[in-house]
Amino acid sequence: MLSYKELLDRVKDQLQREATKRVSRLVLPEPDVRFVGNRTYLYNFKQITDAIRRNPDKVLMYLARELATAASMDQEGRAIFIGRKSKDSFRVLIERYVMDNVICPVCGSPDTHIEKVKKVTMLVCEACGAKSPIKG
Ligand SMILES: [Zn+2]
Repeated sequence: MLSYKELLDRVKDQLQREATKRVSRLVLPEPDVRFVGNRTYLYNFKQITDAIRRNPDKVLMYLARELATAASMDQEGRAIFIGRKSKDSFRVLIERYVMDNVICPVCGSPDTHIEKVKKVTMLVCEACGAKSPIKG
């Protein structure tokens, strides 16, 4: 049986966790997509990867694979894709990437980082300490 004080502490913990969850809600920049000839420029690619704190090369590889095209990055941190890709497709893919690679599945916090444990890529949560293997 838990004492009254233990119960109280537990409730307080829970409330604190809820508070952190709200404060650290991730704000994703809207993809700034422009077409130049037969290419698609994602102008604010750098801001997006900064916001989610993930390696731009990894994110670029993911987007290129999902869009089934070739991609590169220029010095200004813009991502360039071959072919015309809609803004919506970027929005959907980035959100999916964030759900799978950034958001902690245990507490929902975006304050996470990637760690390699042996050969498994783990999502390590800085808010609750959970380690979750990353899908794919
Ligand atoms: Zn967590």
